[in-house]
Amino acid sequence: MSGTPLLFQEYPRLARAIPHVPLGVFPTPVERLTAVGRELGHEHLYIKRDDLSGSVYGGNKVRKLEFLLGEALQHQARSVITVGFAGSNHALATAIYARQLGLKSTSLLMPQVNAHYVQANLLASHYHGADVRLCRNMSHLCCDLGWQQVCGLFRDTGTPRFIPAGGTSPLGILGYVEAAFELRQQIAAGQLPVPDRIYLPFASMGTTAGLLLGCRLAGLQSRIIAVRVIEKKRSGIGRLLAILRRSVDSLRRIEPAIPHLSFTAEDVSIRDEFLGGGYAHVTPGGEAATALLKMHAGIDLNGAYSAKAFAALMADTHGPELKSHTVLYWNTWNSRDLSMMASGVDYHTLPHGFHRYFTENVR
Ligand SMILES: *Cc1c(COP(=O)(O)O)cnc(C)c1O
Repeated sequence: MSGTPLLFQEYPRLARAIPHVPLGVFPTPVERLTAVGRELGHEHLYIKRDDLSGSVYGGNKVRKLEFLLGEALQHQARSVITVGFAGSNHALATAIYARQLGLKSTSLLMPQVNAHYVQANLLASHYHGADVRLCRNMSHLCCDLGWQQVCGLFRDTGTPRFIPAGGTSPLGILGYVEAAFELRQQIAAGQLPVPDRIYLPFASMGTTAGLLLGCRLAGLQSRIIAVRVIEKKRSGIGRLLAILRRSVDSLRRIEPAIPHLSFTAEDVSIRDEFLGGGYAHVTPGGEAATALLKMHAGIDLNGAYSAKAFAALMADTHGPELKSHTVLYWNTWNSRDLSMMASGVDYHTLPHGFHRYFTENVR
């Protein structure tokens, strides 16, 4: 099944024009959360296991990287560079899958609140040969190094391909357009009914954008509930709609059979009330969600992302609006074990600026 994307099977012209490299393990399973549903008094609860999207490292970045790293290969790049916060799951996913393709990777990372996953991700990135650099102000792209020095990092490997933050771009979101086609196939196979609602975290917005576009193309009427996990200034509805517009335009230039879809703010529910203290700050709702999923499904959530999305779902089960609706929780976090990678690395071998994540407390 892995290989040619369903999107390309549906629109063969796209296959000739759009780069893609298989990296993940698809389709990811859909499961019914029976025991969790019983706890919440909600019978029709399902989970999409994108935490199993890769054999080494799962989560929602794998689907995007199939297109983005495909493009890097198409340009015959020998290296990639990406940006994110210190504990970026995206930077780690890029490091792992770039290396698998023989590409050198560099991550320019910004400071963030400390958390256990930050430590694990930094060590695992290093383990996979990524060059991680602390970058204090992304808007100027001023690392502890200057720009000339950044360029100097690539003297041996030529100009790197830039992989955008979170893997979100009109190309990257095709990973989640594809995911909607995958979901449609699972619905057709009787694995779940058409979900009335899909809950997921909302950060660089690519997962949400891709599913919005993909569900529309695949004819799925599901409402996307995008739970904000990052401050508004980094992810506004205007940017979301702009990415969607650019993606539709690019696709239609290649394949005119793709309908001229347009989106408005009414097409998605962005939920702001579960962010708590800010990006990567844990919340009581998120901790309750993490405990519930761990106990009744054996699935780990991440306090910065997936726990906040599930907290929103939990809160909604207390109100009247979910009633007999079929609800799909889209798990974007990774469940592959990183401890082997992390245990082989001494944090002192990371650039000095990162050491505080290993010496300061994690709340
Ligand atoms: C990156 C990430 C998200 C956010 O997805 P976007 O496409 O950036 O909105 C959600 N959950 C996890 C675990 C992530 O790593």
